[in-house]
Amino acid sequence: MRKKIVAGNWKMNLNVSEGVALVEELNVGISEGVKADELIVFPPFPHLYAVKDRAIKLQVGAQNCHTALNGAYTGEVSAPMLSSIQISHVLVGHSERRAYFNELNDLLAKKVDAVLDEGMTAVYCCGETLPEREENRHFNVIGAQLAEGLFHLNENQLKQVVIAYEPVWAIGTGKTASSAQAQEVHAYIRKLIATNYTADAAENMSILYGGSCNPANAQELFSQPDVDGGLIGGASLKSADFIQIANSY
Ligand code: PEP
Repeated sequence: MRKKIVAGNWKMNLNVSEGVALVEELNVGISEGVKADELIVFPPFPHLYAVKDRAIKLQVGAQNCHTALNGAYTGEVSAPMLSSIQISHVLVGHSERRAYFNELNDLLAKKVDAVLDEGMTAVYCCGETLPEREENRHFNVIGAQLAEGLFHLNENQLKQVVIAYEPVWAIGTGKTASSAQAQEVHAYIRKLIATNYTADAAENMSILYGGSCNPANAQELFSQPDVDGGLIGGASLKSADFIQIANSY
């Protein structure tokens, strides 16, 4: 059975003590029970150790990693470094990394491999820009992002992957995809997995929606049959909002 997952991408926000305070608030909220099966936070690198140390019933992921195991890559962080502090998930292919750091699908495929080789789960992000949607190219764009960045994996490896559909036009804009738009794309992604792998692999894949998801719209989005949860940016920085979203099933 696929998992209901709510994940918080903190991006480049909060200092370490603010991050620790947020996780301690989340601990309290989670101790009262949440409906999501799994909660994950993705803090910036300097926060990881302290957040990991404090988190109870909350998994801690990283926002990025390099493809190499180690070496002369000043400023980078490797997957083995992350697994050495029990990081469970790594975001791969977030649209901000694609847009601002020129990360293309072939590089992202290597990042996925680096993450999986360390026994971590890759949260692979895909999604179209506004012009791509307006030109009705979104299915092709998402199909290529998945084919080139993910579908080199075998079916067993695919179990270590969660997919996040994040329309770029909805990220940080306050403009959410309608639940029908989200469902349409999620169903398409699931169909692609069934075609490239098996019906079982498709059924077991958790597919999260991301893009201005908040306590007011999460329930409607999560009620869709192929929406298994959310990757939350802005609203994950407020513990009450994040917990409310985690209860929106
Ligand atoms: C994100 O960055 O993954 C995201 C979904 O951001 P926001 O919720 O702020 O749109």
